[in-house]
Amino acid sequence: MNTSVDDRPLPANADAGELAKFQALASRWWDPGSEFRPLHEINPLRLDWIDALAAIGGKQIVDVGCGGGILTESMALRGARVTGIDLADKPLRVAELHGLESGVAVSYERISAEALAERSPAGFDVVTCMEMLEHVPDPASTIRACATMVRPGGWVFLSTINRNPKAFLFAIVGAEYVLNLLPKGTHEYDKFLRPAELCGFARDVGLDLVEMIGLTYNPITRRYRLTRGDVSVNYLVAFRKPAAGAA
Ligand code: SAH
Repeated sequence: MNTSVDDRPLPANADAGELAKFQALASRWWDPGSEFRPLHEINPLRLDWIDALAAIGGKQIVDVGCGGGILTESMALRGARVTGIDLADKPLRVAELHGLESGVAVSYERISAEALAERSPAGFDVVTCMEMLEHVPDPASTIRACATMVRPGGWVFLSTINRNPKAFLFAIVGAEYVLNLLPKGTHEYDKFLRPAELCGFARDVGLDLVEMIGLTYNPITRRYRLTRGDVSVNYLVAFRKPAAGAA
């Protein structure tokens, strides 16, 4: 049985241990010096990339695995109508409170991607699911739900961590043990996804690959940047669902 993190039963495609990690850290989500510093630092980069491709102003967006709402709020600030969903209730409460404080209109809901896909098929112009797939038992199921939620012609943006010796060294040994960027145990190597696996799952559910881009960290300058052509550790992928009637 899948034990719950907040007294409500968890859907099948969720790992209570993974959610518990985010529950425990939730109160520090918006502290840019906290464990969430990497998310704060990468946010402007991914936001600009998403906006450049999908022109998000006025668009209906769902942010899957939104956590405390760093990307969610920033997309709303660009004029999108955004819903954030997650299965951990504490990060969602933090997101809600932060939205109230900053006066940004975002709606949040504790619901799985699969359940929302059933309720709102083709309900969104854009689906984002960032830094979440490496925490779920069945990423293919999440990607299927993302593909169901997006309307024909709409965009799906995914990001995760590659699985190879370099990714192990940088994303786990480097980030968690040497540089202390993330708490130890944040990531499990076996759950990382190779770009070919992720793109295969997306292709299987009818999504077309548009662009794949790497995210690299320079420990000397302590800066992240988007790097075309280096997807060896962190990477982001943009997909489109073919427009209705397209061949
Ligand atoms: N997407 C956000 C937060 C990433 S942290 C960002 O990039 O800024 C990963 C988030 O995924 C956490 O909030 C965690 O609670 C959520 N998560 C993990 N497993 C999940 C699942 N099965 N369904 C929904 N959310 C999940």
